[in-house]
Amino acid sequence: MQMIKFTYDFELERIEELINASDAKCVGLQLPEGVRTIAAGLVEHITGRTDAEVIISGNSCYGACDIDTGLLNVVDILFHFGHTPYFRSYLSPADMRKVHYIELRSEVDVKPVAEKAVDELEGETVCVVSTLQHVHRLTDVKTILEQHGKKPETGKSPRLMYEGQVLGCDFSAVALPCDEVLFIGSGSFHPAGLALYTGGRVVAADPFTTELKIFNGEAERKKRYMAIARACDATSIGIIIGMKSGQFNLVEARRLKDSAIERGKRAYLIAMNDIIEERLLGYRVDAFVNTACPRLTEDISVEVPVLSAREFEIVLGLRDWENLI
Ligand code: SF4
Repeated sequence: MQMIKFTYDFELERIEELINASDAKCVGLQLPEGVRTIAAGLVEHITGRTDAEVIISGNSCYGACDIDTGLLNVVDILFHFGHTPYFRSYLSPADMRKVHYIELRSEVDVKPVAEKAVDELEGETVCVVSTLQHVHRLTDVKTILEQHGKKPETGKSPRLMYEGQVLGCDFSAVALPCDEVLFIGSGSFHPAGLALYTGGRVVAADPFTTELKIFNGEAERKKRYMAIARACDATSIGIIIGMKSGQFNLVEARRLKDSAIERGKRAYLIAMNDIIEERLLGYRVDAFVNTACPRLTEDISVEVPVLSAREFEIVLGLRDWENLI
């Protein structure tokens, strides 16, 4: 059997217990892309210890909003890795009972990168936040900041499980007002969103690589203002409906379509699972509006502007520029 060595806690004993307790004959695994390399090892681990057959979800998995409902229909139990339950319940109670969340808490020590980040922090009051993977280590980070004379703060989103936890669509754990934000985690998706949300400076500290990156709120907001300004001349609009179960919002898409048509524009509803650049090519529209995950909009680079629903409301005159966030 393939040996499994992880940087994350995969809660293997709990998985085994849940399978045996539920007498599940068919088990689904849904993993974020970054940890799919261990999918085969996980299957071998489970089949070596239980009688269950295992099916891996091969679809994209963006977040807690993205349970593979197709797979859920054919398995007895589904393990969804890397997220906590989604605040907006889009599953039936029976389906909810079949889904078990494995948080994938990181075992990496955050203290070295926190020590390094101190030199980059310019303000006194620092809001410390993280993704689920490192949120249990924020106390260590705050202790280091205090030792260097900083005042660390952390808030909690009413919609998320842990203090200091952020999602790409929920940054309300940022305790405002603060001089700047220290984000503990990997990638640009969250720190760029935090900079956009706060309009201030964000120091992103990656515990895996110990690299630091700085994100500037003004620069992030300027990018979005430019996209909105470009869309103001658009006469034909593609309104994207995300077909991922937790991102589906047909009511919002229809509302924006009707508002656009009332203002003399042409608007078309386009449904898709994965909102990626390749899916947006070829349409003869002047702008797209994304009614699914709000953060996907910022990562897409096509010739025409791609706006979030809020940003499109500014184009339609339904929202002031000052209320973009
Ligand atoms: S809507 Fe986007 S940011 Fe929010 S949980 Fe889903 S994938 Fe993550």
